[in-house]
Amino acid sequence: MSFIIKCIDCGHNAPYYPTSTTCPKCNSQWREAEYDYEAIGKTLLVKLAARPFNLWRYRELLPVRNPNINLSLGEGGTPLIRAVNLGMMLGCPNIYIKDERQGPTASFKDRQASVTIAALKEAGITEMVAASTGNVAISYSAYASRAGVKLWAFVTSLVPAMKMREIALYGSQVIKITGSYDQCKQVASEFAHQRHLYQDLGARTITSIEAMKTIAYEIAEQLTAIQGADEEVPWRTPDWYVQSISGGMGPIGVYKGFREMKQMGLVNRIPAFAPIQAEGCAPMVDSWKKGLEKAEPVTSPKTRIETLATGTPGRSYELLREYVNNTNGAFESVSDEDAFRAMHVLAKMEGISAEPAAAVAFAGLFKLIRAGIIKPSDTVVVNCTGHTMPAEPGILGDNWSRDVKLMTSQQTPQEGLLSALSQVAPERFPKIVIVEDTAEARRLIRRILQSQGSFTILEASNGREGLELIQRELPDLVILDLMMPEMDGFTVIESLRAKTETATIPVIVATAKELTTDEKSRLSGQIQSLMQKGDFLNDEFLEEVKALIK
Ligand SMILES: *Cc1c(COP(=O)(O)O)cnc(C)c1O
Ligand SMILES: [Zn+2]
Repeated sequence: MSFIIKCIDCGHNAPYYPTSTTCPKCNSQWREAEYDYEAIGKTLLVKLAARPFNLWRYRELLPVRNPNINLSLGEGGTPLIRAVNLGMMLGCPNIYIKDERQGPTASFKDRQASVTIAALKEAGITEMVAASTGNVAISYSAYASRAGVKLWAFVTSLVPAMKMREIALYGSQVIKITGSYDQCKQVASEFAHQRHLYQDLGARTITSIEAMKTIAYEIAEQLTAIQGADEEVPWRTPDWYVQSISGGMGPIGVYKGFREMKQMGLVNRIPAFAPIQAEGCAPMVDSWKKGLEKAEPVTSPKTRIETLATGTPGRSYELLREYVNNTNGAFESVSDEDAFRAMHVLAKMEGISAEPAAAVAFAGLFKLIRAGIIKPSDTVVVNCTGHTMPAEPGILGDNWSRDVKLMTSQQTPQEGLLSALSQVAPERFPKIVIVEDTAEARRLIRRILQSQGSFTILEASNGREGLELIQRELPDLVILDLMMPEMDGFTVIESLRAKTETATIPVIVATAKELTTDEKSRLSGQIQSLMQKGDFLNDEFLEEVKALIK
């Protein structure tokens, strides 16, 4: 594969060698790989048709001349998953999750490590240094072991012990630095310098940016398979790319991917970029919101999400700012609390367990949709950058399991089992009736309730059925739609209030309808709460349910 390293400051071209990290002409550290896009563009589609779906299918566009398949752990080629439930909750049906948890060490750093280690191996380099908040070092450590490369992993003392142990398990030397991530990088850099070792330079590492760009290629190919191509090009671009960031290497690479595809005529546009940071360490977001051209550093990050604790983004901010502005994107920040909440929503609604750093992107997505910046008709791809490790012990709190104790001495096993199971028997749970004519909406409300507590849930698909069910079951709570066949919600409420047995059952109305003043006065005093559909992500809904039920 032929490629050249071009300086983004002076345009000077130089050959690639991993340890030569500055432009020979102007000394800039900001350079990128450039390929013969015209030639590659002519044959790429035909070649791709015959290759497996993994990172190395784009090998003409990667800075490794002869990819060594023996080093591979199956990196790249992660699924693009439609977030159907989130889409319904948010009123934004085309949300897709690029599931980077499915990489060999469960984060998107596997792309970076696999390409970088392949390039080092090819250049005959056998020792390297990386500073990390956990995931980069885990990933490098795994690939280094296959390649016989020695890794010195500098991590901050905030990195969960589980993650440190995983780094060590693959045989790398872990060096714990008590200090900020930025300080940890400085120490690592000094160490590498003294020993003349290859060092990972974050977003300035050619191989890392090249590796990350494969996410863009995969998204374009996968979205085309789902939605069809954009007009007059072979592939499709989403409207948004959302990712949680620390140093910003991911989106810088993904942007380069889309830029290259556009240059080769494979796509006709670049998505809007939405880099999301944790509020307690959001130098890029804060600087962008203030309209600054250079980032104001954050010297003491205040977030528990240590994976995202880069306080001094430097030049990466300037690049990302340009990309965000050019694409009409937006920077956003979210609190740790929002991120943890998003993590629960994602797990409970989509079956995806993401680490807090990845959940930051989802919390950002919720915020941008609520602010109207991401529109209901937009197609959004969110990068789910990493998997929850048991490293996050505080996540569930207490009471996350129900204990069933078997066999006390006097009981026969059978009796013991039955009486034990009565401790989890659903009859003892509060009863909720959902009256709603759309099956999808019923399923969604049921799921939201089930994810937050133990309820016995009964459903009816029209007003008449609903009224009968309520009169028969006398539930603790009713969640009621207004516009339904057979009997509308207004009539159901009036019938309930007219009879003593049902007069005091609390009712939450959930409706997509804009109510007229007349309709509002018909409901007033008759119901406990009015929810707009699409509002269910709001904590209010569950608080309301919990308050009404006790
Ligand atoms: C590294 C990492 C990030 C931040 O990525 P950058 O693009 O380098 O800023 C986000 N989430 C997870 C899980 C990570 O490991
Ligand atoms: Zn230069």
